[in-house]
Amino acid sequence: MAHPYYGLNDLREMFLSYFESKGHLRLPSFSLIPHNDQSLLLINAGMAPMKTWFTREEEPPRNRVCTCQKCIRTGDIENIGKTARHGTYFEMLGNFSFGDYFKHDGIAFAWEFLTKVVGLEEDRLYPSIYLDDDEAFNIWRDEIGIAPERIFRFGKADNFWEHGSGPCGPCSEIYYDRGESYGCGKPTCTVGCDCDRYIEIWNVVFSQFNNDGEGHYTELTNKNIDTGMGLERLACVCQNVDSLFDVDTVMKITSKVSDITGATYGQSHKNDVSLRVITDHIRASVMMICDGILPSNEGRGYVLRRLLRRAARHGKLLGLNHAFLYEVVDTVVRENEFAYPDLRDKQDYITKVVRTEEENFARTIDGGMKIYSELLAAHKEKGESVFSGADAFRLYDTYGFPIDLTAEMLEEEGMTVDREGFDRLMNEQRERARTARLALGDLAWAGIELGLDATPTEFTGYDRLSDTGRVLAIVAEGELRGEITEGTEGLIVLDRTPLYAEMGGQVADHGTITAEGCLFEVTGVQKEKAGKFLHYGAVKSGKLRVGDEVTASVDAERRKAIMRAHSATHLLDAALKKVLGEHVHQAGSLVEPDKLRFDFTHFSAITSEELNEVARIVNDAILEGYPVTTQVLPIEEAKKLGAVAMFGEKYGSVVRVVSMGDVSMEFCGGTHLDNTAKAGAFRIKSEASVASGVRRIEATVGKLSLEGMSCDQNVLCRVADVLKTSPLELLNRVQQQLGEMKEIRHELEKLRVKESLGEVQQFLMSAKSVKGLKVFTCNRPGADLNSLRQTGDFLRDKEPNIVAVLSAVNEEKITLLAVCGKEAVARGVKAGELVKLVSAIVGGSGGGKPDSAMGGGKDLLKLDDALAAVDDFVSDKVN
Ligand code: ATP
Ligand code: MG
Repeated sequence: MAHPYYGLNDLREMFLSYFESKGHLRLPSFSLIPHNDQSLLLINAGMAPMKTWFTREEEPPRNRVCTCQKCIRTGDIENIGKTARHGTYFEMLGNFSFGDYFKHDGIAFAWEFLTKVVGLEEDRLYPSIYLDDDEAFNIWRDEIGIAPERIFRFGKADNFWEHGSGPCGPCSEIYYDRGESYGCGKPTCTVGCDCDRYIEIWNVVFSQFNNDGEGHYTELTNKNIDTGMGLERLACVCQNVDSLFDVDTVMKITSKVSDITGATYGQSHKNDVSLRVITDHIRASVMMICDGILPSNEGRGYVLRRLLRRAARHGKLLGLNHAFLYEVVDTVVRENEFAYPDLRDKQDYITKVVRTEEENFARTIDGGMKIYSELLAAHKEKGESVFSGADAFRLYDTYGFPIDLTAEMLEEEGMTVDREGFDRLMNEQRERARTARLALGDLAWAGIELGLDATPTEFTGYDRLSDTGRVLAIVAEGELRGEITEGTEGLIVLDRTPLYAEMGGQVADHGTITAEGCLFEVTGVQKEKAGKFLHYGAVKSGKLRVGDEVTASVDAERRKAIMRAHSATHLLDAALKKVLGEHVHQAGSLVEPDKLRFDFTHFSAITSEELNEVARIVNDAILEGYPVTTQVLPIEEAKKLGAVAMFGEKYGSVVRVVSMGDVSMEFCGGTHLDNTAKAGAFRIKSEASVASGVRRIEATVGKLSLEGMSCDQNVLCRVADVLKTSPLELLNRVQQQLGEMKEIRHELEKLRVKESLGEVQQFLMSAKSVKGLKVFTCNRPGADLNSLRQTGDFLRDKEPNIVAVLSAVNEEKITLLAVCGKEAVARGVKAGELVKLVSAIVGGSGGGKPDSAMGGGKDLLKLDDALAAVDDFVSDKVN
C-alpha cells in the first residue's frame, strides 16, 4: 500500500479539523429529516440542509462551514450489494463557501487534503470538469500541476450540478484509480466508466449561476462552493478494500450479521448480496429511527419500513426464521457513537422499534409468502409475465409487502408487476381519505388556491375569546366566492381570529363570526399551509362579503373544557414518565372538550397499580393548583431549560413553552388553563395497546368526569337498591349471593341425579326379559338430548344385561338412543345395528358404537311399531 491506513472515524475527524484549520465553522450533522423543505423526503447531500444559506433567504452562521452529513439515497437501493461504491446510507463530508472563496481555493483545499493530509498517490487521482469550464481546467493544469491529458471533460449529466430552479453550476469531480484488478477489462475502460475501477470520491460544485426555472442562467454576485465526498468511499480507498462494505466500521456490522445468520462473507455471491443488503439497511434504519422516523405506509416512514422489511426478507433468504435485526442495533450504535452520541441514549428505543417492526412483518410474511407463491403459480400457469396490480395491492394491504419488495421478488422470477393497476388501487384508497379531508376544508386537497399573500392569520385566542378581524376570502361549493349568503356552508378566511385551529392534537374551537345583520356559525377551524385560518361553518342569517369587518367569538364553555383536557394531557405525560420511565414519548394525542386520548411508547402492559399511581399523580398536581405559565423562547434556550419536545417533531427557531409548577414543561402551541386546579377531577377511562409498542390512555376531566362519576354513582345506588343493601355493602352482598347461588346449583344437581337414578330403577323394574337379557323401551316426549344420554349411560353402566331404546320427540322430530350393556354386547346385540333398524321404521337413519348409538326419524305414527320391534331384534340376535 503506497498510502497510510486510516479508520473511518479517523478520516472523518481529519477532514473536519483540516477544514477548521482553514477557517471553516464545524457544524454537527443535520437531522435526516429535512426542515422546512417540502421538495425532499430525506437529506441526500451535505448541502441539502443549507439551501437557504446558499439562496441567502437565511444568513449562514459563517461564510465557511464544514460538516459530515448523514445521507440517505433511496435511489441507490437497487445498487446495494451489486456495486462496490453505493450504500442507501452513507456519510458525506463537505466544505462550503457562502460567497467567500471560489474555484481556486475549492480545488486547492480538496487536492491538499487528499494528497497531503490523507496521503493518496497523486498519480492515481484524476479530476474531471464540465465541458467548457476552462477556468477550472486552468486551475487544475497550472496551479495544481496536473497533466492536461489526465483532466477529463464531461457533459451536463455528470458535471453540471442543478436541481430545478435556484443556485447551480458546473462541478469538478475527483476520481481514484483502484487499479486494473477492479476494472471491467474493456478497452474503453477509463475515468467515467461505470465499473468499480475509477471511483468518484469527491465532487466539488461551483454554484455560480442562478437558474430562473426556465433555463436562463445569470451569474451570481456571491459565488459559492459546495462539496461532497463519501466518507465510506474515502475509507474504502484508504484501507485498500474491495468495497464500502469492507470498510472497518461497516465490516464489524457485517460480521455481526454473519455471526447471527451463520453465512460467511466472501463465500458466495448470493449470500454476499444478502449480507450487504442487511448491513446497509440496518445502518440506515438505525440512523433514521434515531432521527425520529417511525415505520409507516407513507413518506419517510415508508422508506424506513421498506428498508427494514427488505432486510428481514434477506435474513429469510439466509435461512433465518425469526427476528434478528434488532440484535444488530448494538453493533451499529457502537461503530457510530463516536460521531453520533445520541445513538447510545436512544439505543433501547431504537432496538424496540426495529424489533417491533420485524415481529409485525414476521407475523404476516409467512402467510404473505404463501399467498404470493400461490398467486405467482396462478399467473405462471396462465402464461402471464405481469403480476396483477390487484394481487400486489392485496399483498400490500393484507400482508404489509411494500410494492417495491413484491416487484423485486418478481424480478427474480423474470416477471414484472402492473404498477399502474397497483397505483390505481392505492389512489382509490387515498381518495377515500381525501373525501374525508375535504369535508374538513383542506384546500390543498381540493386544489383551491386562495391567491392571498403568505402572511399567516394572527391568532389572538391565547388571551381573548372575542376579537375583530377582516374577511380575506370566502370559499363555498368548492370555489372562491365574493360573498356567502344565508343557508350556505363554506369557509371564511380571516386576517385575525381568536378561534383556535385544529393543531397538535387539540380540536378546533367552535364559535361565531358576526357582522351587521349577519351570523356565521363556526363548527371547525383549520390552518392552511401559509398559516391562514379557515373557519368552516354555515351562514345562519344575512350575508358576508370579502372585505367585511367582523367579530369572531369563541364558544367559551367549549373552549374551557378543551383547555381542561389539554392541561391535563401535559400532567398525564409527566406522570407517565415518572411512573413508567423516561422512554415514554408521546406518539399521538387528541384533546377534546373534557376528554383526552394520549398515545405513547411503552413496551409492556401497564398494571392497575401503575395506572392508579399515574391518576393519583395527575390529580395531586391538579389539587396543588399550579399556575400555568407560557413563555416564548429561542429553541436552544427552551431545550436548555429541559422542556419536553415532541419526539421527531420539527420546531422553528422560536418556540412556545408551557409550564405547570415544576411538574411539567413542554413545547406546545395549544390553549391552556391558567391554573391546574381548574381541570377538575381526572379520571382514566381505559388503557390499552393500539399498536405494538404503543399504548393508549383515554381519560376525562372537568364536567365529563363529574357526569361520569354521578352516572356511576346512580348505577351503584340502583344495584344496591335491587339487592336491598347500601353501596358500601354491595361487594359483600354480591359475594354472599354468588356463594348462595353456587350452593343452590350444587343441590339442584344432586337432586337431578337422584331423580334420574329413581327413573332408571323404575325402568329396570319394568324391563322385559328376552332370552336372559333385559329389554326396555320408552318414549319421553320433550326430553332433551343430554338427559336422554345421561339416562342411557346410567342404564348401560348399571345393568350389563340391558338392551334399551329411548326416544324423545321434539318439534315433530324423533330422536332415538339405543344402549347395550356389556353382557348384551357380548351376546351379539349391537346398539348401532339396533338403532339403525328402529330409525329406519320411523323413516330415518342412525348408527354408532355397539354399546351406545343414536338415530332419528320423522314418522311419528310409526314410533310405537318401531319400539315394538326391539324385542324381535334381540331374540333374533341372541343365540
Ligand atoms: P455515483 O455516480 O458514484 O453514484 P454521484 O454522482 O451520485 O455518485 P454525488 O451526488 O456527486 O455522487 O455525491 C457526492 C459524493 O458522495 C460522491 O462523490 C460519493 O463519494 C458519495 N456518494 C454518492 N452516492 C453514494 C452512495 N450511494 N453511497 C456512498 N457514497 C456515495
Ligand atoms: Mg449517484
